[in-house]
Amino acid sequence: MEYWQELISKNFIDGARLARRLRADKKDFCKVAKEYPININPYYLSLIREKHDAIWKQCVPNILEVRQTTGRLDPLLEEAYSPIEGLIHRYDDRVLLYVSNMCAGYCRFCTRKRKVGREEKVLKESDFIKAFRYIARHKAIRDVILSGGDPLLLEDDKIEYYLKHLRKIKHIEVIRIDSRTPCVLPQRITPALCRMLKKYSPIYFNTHFNHFQEITDASTKACNMLADNGIVLGNQTVLLAGVNDDSHVLKRLFEGLLMMRVRPYYLYIPDAVKGTYHFRVSIARALRIMRELIGHTSGMAVPRLIIDLKRGGGKTPLLPKYIIKRKGRRYVFRNFENRIFYYADIE
Ligand SMILES: *Cc1c(COP(=O)(O)O)cnc(C)c1O
Ligand code: SF4
Repeated sequence: MEYWQELISKNFIDGARLARRLRADKKDFCKVAKEYPININPYYLSLIREKHDAIWKQCVPNILEVRQTTGRLDPLLEEAYSPIEGLIHRYDDRVLLYVSNMCAGYCRFCTRKRKVGREEKVLKESDFIKAFRYIARHKAIRDVILSGGDPLLLEDDKIEYYLKHLRKIKHIEVIRIDSRTPCVLPQRITPALCRMLKKYSPIYFNTHFNHFQEITDASTKACNMLADNGIVLGNQTVLLAGVNDDSHVLKRLFEGLLMMRVRPYYLYIPDAVKGTYHFRVSIARALRIMRELIGHTSGMAVPRLIIDLKRGGGKTPLLPKYIIKRKGRRYVFRNFENRIFYYADIE
């Protein structure tokens, strides 16, 4: 057994045990766990510094999860865009493969709360042949995303099996891996894994850090190891009330990510998923936060703010308003410092 596997074999999955460790009341934990399982690995749990801090809120169950009646289990209609079990084809040129329903720990705000940790709906190795044929037949697909769950909870040879097959398809240009492990289980990033991934370049790796407290020596080492092996790293953050809905927190996170050679890619408005409403942030607040970031730190440290529209509308960018008036070719701008500038466009 590898070290990361040993670590997750000691995961906290039982409400009573977690309550003992955190010196909290077990009643609520157990009640929530009946609906949405608990799963926290010892490494991530060790990042908690105090009760209800940003790490705690992301992984420790909250009774509000089971008190909410609003929201859907699948607001993005992912199931409707699945021509094959485990394959989501929403955008013409890219597909997402749901290759794993395991994660190094369950995030309480997870968009795929309905699937993570459950048996069904995952692409099994036998279904992969079907998915593989589908991708081979659809020549427009040039970008394949291995997602889940967390694909890196699979063993190296299984991941390699997928990569090897995908690389045989001529029209596949980019292979992406979406994994939270550099953040929640950095021990998963081993030299052997990196050597294997390197063979299938170009691999783009999007990870998922939400708070600067998640940037540690271990996660820095993991990201550097990936980068040293030619893997291009990006980061997707979810904007979460009480965790990171604050421009100072995000600035520190994004600048810290650049120091680990991870480029902030997307910042998401949380999806309207049942059981996660206590994390939701309004669009107006998100835009204010973006205004406090744009122009106030390196452009490279500013991700795009994205809302994934309900009913399958897809990822849609949001930008604060910089053009405040337009008359013909005359524009009035409000710049990052809130100063007014006039601009005459070409005829
Ligand atoms: C997010 C997502 C993608 C990738 O979108 P990009 O904007 O290219 O990062 C592809 N397919 C599905 C189903 C997705 O949810
Ligand atoms: S790692 Fe990703 S898929 Fe897994 S629980 Fe967290 S947000 Fe959901």
